[in-house]
Amino acid sequence: MLLRPSERWLQAHSSRYGYCSVSSSHAVSNEHRKTGGSGFSSKLAAGPSFRDFVKNVAAGEKGSPDLQEEAEETHPYLPEDSQIGTGRKVYFETYGCQMNVNDTEIAWSILQKKGYLRTSDLAQADVILLVTCSVREKAEQTIWNRLQQLTALKRRRPRSQTPLKIGILGCMAERLKKQLLEREKLVDVLAGPDAYRDLPRLLSVSESGQQAINVLLSLEETYADVMPVQLHPQARAAFVSIMRGCDNMCSYCIVPFTRGRERSRPLASILQEVRMLSDQGVKEVTLLGQNVNSYRDTSEVQFCSSEPTHMSRGFSSLYRDRKGGLRFSELLERVSRIDPDMRVRFTSPHPKDFPDEVLQLIQERHNICKQIHLPAQSGSTRILQAMRRGYTREAYLELVDHIRSVIPEVSLSSDFIAGFCGETEEDHLQTVSLLREVRYNVGFLFAYSVRKKTHAYHRLQDDVPGEVKQRRLEELIRVFREEAASLNLGLVGSTQLVLVEGVSKRSAVELSGRNDSNVKVIFPNLEDPTDCASGGTAGIKPGDYVRVKVQQEHCTARILLTRLTLVYRSAQGRQQTQQHSSDMSKKHEANVFNNSYKQLKTPVGWFR
Ligand code: SF4
Repeated sequence: MLLRPSERWLQAHSSRYGYCSVSSSHAVSNEHRKTGGSGFSSKLAAGPSFRDFVKNVAAGEKGSPDLQEEAEETHPYLPEDSQIGTGRKVYFETYGCQMNVNDTEIAWSILQKKGYLRTSDLAQADVILLVTCSVREKAEQTIWNRLQQLTALKRRRPRSQTPLKIGILGCMAERLKKQLLEREKLVDVLAGPDAYRDLPRLLSVSESGQQAINVLLSLEETYADVMPVQLHPQARAAFVSIMRGCDNMCSYCIVPFTRGRERSRPLASILQEVRMLSDQGVKEVTLLGQNVNSYRDTSEVQFCSSEPTHMSRGFSSLYRDRKGGLRFSELLERVSRIDPDMRVRFTSPHPKDFPDEVLQLIQERHNICKQIHLPAQSGSTRILQAMRRGYTREAYLELVDHIRSVIPEVSLSSDFIAGFCGETEEDHLQTVSLLREVRYNVGFLFAYSVRKKTHAYHRLQDDVPGEVKQRRLEELIRVFREEAASLNLGLVGSTQLVLVEGVSKRSAVELSGRNDSNVKVIFPNLEDPTDCASGGTAGIKPGDYVRVKVQQEHCTARILLTRLTLVYRSAQGRQQTQQHSSDMSKKHEANVFNNSYKQLKTPVGWFR
């Protein structure tokens, strides 16, 4: 009998991009020709090959539609309909970073397609999925505590109901699989960050009372074809994942072990998702990745060249230089052109990947926020070396100066670790002085906690006592706040464009939003009876841009609240705004302010 590739496979290939790695693509094709269309019975007759035990052997094969289909292929030992959710209700809890929020949306998209429903009421849930974080010990402890509560809930479930299933997704599933299965016997499903496509099958297996686990890391999984389903459909801001994993291997960091190697999602699928979000009325997208500005798409032949990667001056990486591929500046440019009314942010970048073309683009494009996260981690060159960050204090400060010379109005944020292995008082004071010198608008500061598997765990000594770490952390936080407060004080009297997010958490009569620098802004929820052309009332809605005048600076915690007075509100719909705007030019801004925004007649000068 002549074996022919299945039609599904042929369709998928007819619309494929050409892959840079021609040989690997070829290898995939040959493999499919051998097995395509033959089905499980011929595989069974031939017996399993080595490939059957290895996930995605050839580089480039996952993420292509043929492989996505493979991921969705049926499992002969499970009846097809056992993977159908049949109205079972899933409850998600998300911990950690924005990547986890986006992962939750991906997991939900996959389960929704299989007939699951979502509930925000824990008591209604048939399946509880925790999307977890491993980056610090405290984050993991939170999950362990939560598991205790959830397993108690599971035990109390009446026998008349279908048994409750508990699943751990993400980094903790990857890092602590053994402990989770042994210690928390009532955990039913473990799925690592690259195994969400397998969730329906894992849940099916757990139905029979077995624990189901898939924590295989992939070299290629980017979930390019999975359109995330937003957990809050009314939200006017969305995350778009553009790359996954990390190759930097900073000595303290668990991420490369839990999320695997760096890989980028194809440009076309990112643009498609951003267009879709724009059509839904989303006004702000944040491009996400563990090293978002290391983005390098090699999915199309025309992206391949021998051009080396441009790094920031004075920076280096542990891995060998990579050549070719469509880089972050090009992606950012293409995303920012989709909708001039849509703000674009990105996180979390690595300071080494800020070549001039990225900085110039941020400066030129009206809708790319002038806000850069520049994780320093320490102000001491000695500690930076121990952390394997690939730069010195001097190189970092030179980059800060350069960024400010290209984008004068830029706001900077950063991450810092207090009390890393071997950190002396002198090293700590270097970090204090870096905070004073750079002056960040937003900061994320933590005490070091050792992570197993990392270089620091194996080779360095966690020798700074806990109370010293805590004292140093408090000093860093105090200095950061002082500097941020004085930066924000400088905003008093200025007028800022704010994207409205919704009602303030502190008061139902106030709204909150963010300015271009990502600083939270609180302002009164005004209704202006004379505002509408129709003569009716018009409230300010999430997704409106309002122009506000800063009245007061108010520093509370990590995020600084700035008391503002509302001056303008969006008086016209998005369609009209778009008519006035051309690309991201200054003209757009002038039109927004002069035509699409109308001065309110209701109280100006409100403040508390
Ligand atoms: S760049 Fe360093 S800190 Fe950031 S995810 Fe990679 S290894 Fe971790």
